[in-house]
Amino acid sequence: MRVEIIPCLQDNYSYLIIDDSNNSACVVDPSEASPIINFLENKSINLKYILNTHHHFDHIGGNKDLKKKFGSSVVGFKKDSNRIPGIDILLEDNQIWEAENFKAKIIHVPGHTSGHICFHFFQEKLVFTGDTLFSLGCGRIFEGTYEEMFDSLNKIKSLPEETKIYCGHEYTLNNSKFCIRHDSKNLNLKKKIESLKKQIEDGIPTIPSTIKNELECNIFLRANNLESFSKLRDLKDNF
Ligand code: ZN
Ligand code: FE
Repeated sequence: MRVEIIPCLQDNYSYLIIDDSNNSACVVDPSEASPIINFLENKSINLKYILNTHHHFDHIGGNKDLKKKFGSSVVGFKKDSNRIPGIDILLEDNQIWEAENFKAKIIHVPGHTSGHICFHFFQEKLVFTGDTLFSLGCGRIFEGTYEEMFDSLNKIKSLPEETKIYCGHEYTLNNSKFCIRHDSKNLNLKKKIESLKKQIEDGIPTIPSTIKNELECNIFLRANNLESFSKLRDLKDNF
């Protein structure tokens, strides 16, 4: 199983999880269809499943066209079935979704939206976090409470440290400016900022991160109580 990062729109990432043993693939959060089609064309890889972390347009925009082109099945959270276009397979919290050689645990992470989920490919130690956890940041709270978002991040925090994090946007450099403002003595963070500046300069994605690295550097994961988390979230909204 390998992951290909497909940049979409302004700063979105879609991800292809490719199983080379039988030339099949899943796509996570296709913002738009054409970059996915361009990548897959002439590679004879079948796009079997479309996995959506949440219903926002920049995560589902390619569903319909991809479904039409490849006959893929759309996989998403049951309670969001009325707002995920083309949904076929309905998921619940804590469920193990299994199809072909793909196997992921579904983690319900309300806060950014009420129906946001993460896909945890626990065998490969990968997690797709959509707009809930970013590298050095977290999503805005649109449909939930601070407490829900804090609890959701705690669920992600508890995954094995070596788990790779694939999030929905390339926001890392911008996020780092907020982190360093409020955590100026963090040497791990300083080190990370140096390397991600270089990555951006070279046009390389700063994704994936890891749980270990985010625990060291991401100020929202370092907040150890609801009060300080909420304060940081407010400050970030006005940053
Ligand atoms: Zn979103
Ligand atoms: Fe988004």
